[in-house]
Amino acid sequence: MASVYDRHVDLNQFMEGVKKRNPGQTEFIQAVQEVAQDIYEFIEDKEEYHEAQILRRIAEPDRVVSFRVCWEDDNHNIRVQRGFRIQNNNAIGPYKGGIRFHPSVNESVLKFLAFEQTFKNSLTGLPMGGGKGGANFNPRGKSDAEVMRFCQSFMTELYRHIGPDTDVPAGDIGVGGREIGYMFGQYKRITNRWEGVLTGKGQEYGGSQMRPEATGYGAVYFLQNMLKHKGEDVEGKTAVISGSGNVATHAAEMITKLGGKVLTLSDSGGFIHDPDGIDQEKIDWIKHLKNVKRGRISEYVDEFKSAEYHEDARPWSVKCDLALPCATQNELNADEAKALVDNGVQGVSEGANMPTTLDGVKVFHDAKIMYGPGKAANAGGVAVSGLEMSQNSERISWNHERLGEMLTDLMEGIHEKCVEYGDDGDGYVDYVKGANIAGFKKVADAMLAFGVV
Ligand code: GLU
Repeated sequence: MASVYDRHVDLNQFMEGVKKRNPGQTEFIQAVQEVAQDIYEFIEDKEEYHEAQILRRIAEPDRVVSFRVCWEDDNHNIRVQRGFRIQNNNAIGPYKGGIRFHPSVNESVLKFLAFEQTFKNSLTGLPMGGGKGGANFNPRGKSDAEVMRFCQSFMTELYRHIGPDTDVPAGDIGVGGREIGYMFGQYKRITNRWEGVLTGKGQEYGGSQMRPEATGYGAVYFLQNMLKHKGEDVEGKTAVISGSGNVATHAAEMITKLGGKVLTLSDSGGFIHDPDGIDQEKIDWIKHLKNVKRGRISEYVDEFKSAEYHEDARPWSVKCDLALPCATQNELNADEAKALVDNGVQGVSEGANMPTTLDGVKVFHDAKIMYGPGKAANAGGVAVSGLEMSQNSERISWNHERLGEMLTDLMEGIHEKCVEYGDDGDGYVDYVKGANIAGFKKVADAMLAFGVV
């Protein structure tokens, strides 16, 4: 006799199961919780999704690969790191997502990122599944030679799990052009194949125009779309931005180009507040500081006297119209969200992945401000990665202007999808709900088509 299996567990029971199966993985549980709330509402009357256990299956990665990475530092010490590749879901295309090198990297962080990436990539409308990888390696303070040896060792294991039609990694925190170059070189050397296995490559060897700018510009375009929906725009508004890496500096650049004024940037040591505005010349100086000198944001105040440095602090107490968290996960909590709301913030657009805590998101929702979650707002980066894959397959390169137009269209399309599923009918758009449902639906329907696999 068939056993009785309850396919209709409620949201609480579902989350209890996720917690039980993923003990101690707080970031992963947080990411699933945020999505599950909306999806439960959406699938309430859709029996086929329950029957096929679709949400349960998306919240269980296809594959978690963990491996040892040994390397030798400049003082001839043997160092051992843990590397990962999480292949979350490839229902709609090859696994796609960045690689993060940071001391905080662990299985929970990468599983949350791979899960989020699945929804984000679906939202772009391009054929990409979701994955993420990385290692608990800290590039800060390491020589170029050390970074090269680490990247080569990492790729010596990773190469067997990836491929242009299987899984295509890219950059993320701690992985930029330098690291992608070393990893691509090692992949090519091991396999003897030149193929588009990584994105975010240099322009000389198959990289796409517009890819460095795409995440930050895209986050501002998303904000611009949210503002436009309300009859507003960026011009004349002040913006508080966190981070000072690739995403933050390009977000600052686009806010400035659109006539806004950027007041802050930050790194893990603290933030700088420049009431005169961080204009293009200052942004270029920061790019050089971070990418070439590999310095700290505190050095900004020695160069630009109008600014103040706030050590060990985050910028959310600075009064602004717009906020763009572009640093890392959980960098904006409920108290900070409240401070932003009390100071009159109108819109928040996330350049980072899950930078706002669940309580913080609730504050934004309750205050009904425009809030664009990372999986929608920062999808421009991976979208242009998708275009890099197309260009590599076709063995051509499109120009900056064409890619700029494609990025603008892609962000507009993502905004439209969020409105389609997130408009509460009262003029307020719940962008989290819209992104979750639109991202889920495409992946879920593909999974239904495949049967039980
Ligand atoms: N790491 C980026 C993200 O979080 C980009 C991933 C990619 O280009 O594959 O979406």
